[in-house]
Amino acid sequence: MTIQWFPGHMTKARRQIEEKLKLIDVVIELLDARIPLSSRNPMVDEILKGKPRLVLLNKNDLADPQVTAEWVKYFADQGLPALPIDAANGTHVKEILPRVKQLWAHKIETMLRKGINPRAIRALIVGIPNVGKSTLINQLAGKKIAATGDKPGVTKGQQWIKVGTEMDLLDTPGILWPKFEDQMVGMRLAATGAIKEELLHLDDVALFTIKYMVQHYGAGIQERFGVQELPDDMDNIQEMVKVMEAIGRKRGAIVSGGKVDLDKASLIIIRDLRAGKMGRISLERPF
Ligand code: GDP
Repeated sequence: MTIQWFPGHMTKARRQIEEKLKLIDVVIELLDARIPLSSRNPMVDEILKGKPRLVLLNKNDLADPQVTAEWVKYFADQGLPALPIDAANGTHVKEILPRVKQLWAHKIETMLRKGINPRAIRALIVGIPNVGKSTLINQLAGKKIAATGDKPGVTKGQQWIKVGTEMDLLDTPGILWPKFEDQMVGMRLAATGAIKEELLHLDDVALFTIKYMVQHYGAGIQERFGVQELPDDMDNIQEMVKVMEAIGRKRGAIVSGGKVDLDKASLIIIRDLRAGKMGRISLERPF
């Protein structure tokens, strides 16, 4: 569910996370591997107030593995360990606990030195809507417990989910908002399905996607859609529309008279991208 964020919502969401932070030791920040910065809350460092943090680059099954490796390095350079995962299929989910334990190892050592039996590490998952928080909670719990959907206004009693004997996870994630005031960020969020495409013009989102793909994944477009020549000038809208038309023609988005239905072609491009049918595509790179 996409939340219509406004200042009151943000304040409430922030307050709810701050309440949860009091209970936990380690934060698991979930980002979309295809658009790590665009799927990140702009105030996350301030909100999390220095809690030990593990970054997870989710939906890595849809992202370009080479670009994801660059992102892992980008976060490591900032002192943030990052792990690519695919929560839907459970890929690399088993590596989360050892990584969380590393972040908390010094505390456990201190407790042991004082003769205290260390308790399970308490963790919280945070992220923007649709990034895969509920899917991950379900994977970690080993059963379906988290209700998918985001309702920042709804408060439930906090429950802990046992992840083995060494980690307790809060059953309700912390919901953060993206940086949607930036238009390019909005395009990336819409293209990947983080926000409803109706919030932006579908053809703009498709055009943005095609421009990015011509630039970075040209061979893939030529191969998949039989496009002969790719335009050199990314800002030549007419040339880009020609690429969209070629895709539309190839996929049967034709109206009477043999013309390409650009709305239909736009929808096909976005659906194919989200379903990974155009290959593993990242829409953002570290800079
Ligand atoms: P939440 O709003 O953050 O709790 O997100 P959800 O867990 O409801 O997931 C949003 C959508 O992303 C759902 O359709 C999930 O099936 C899908 N999803 C979650 N994780 C992955 C993943 O690793 N790969 C892919 N391809 N889809 C995922």
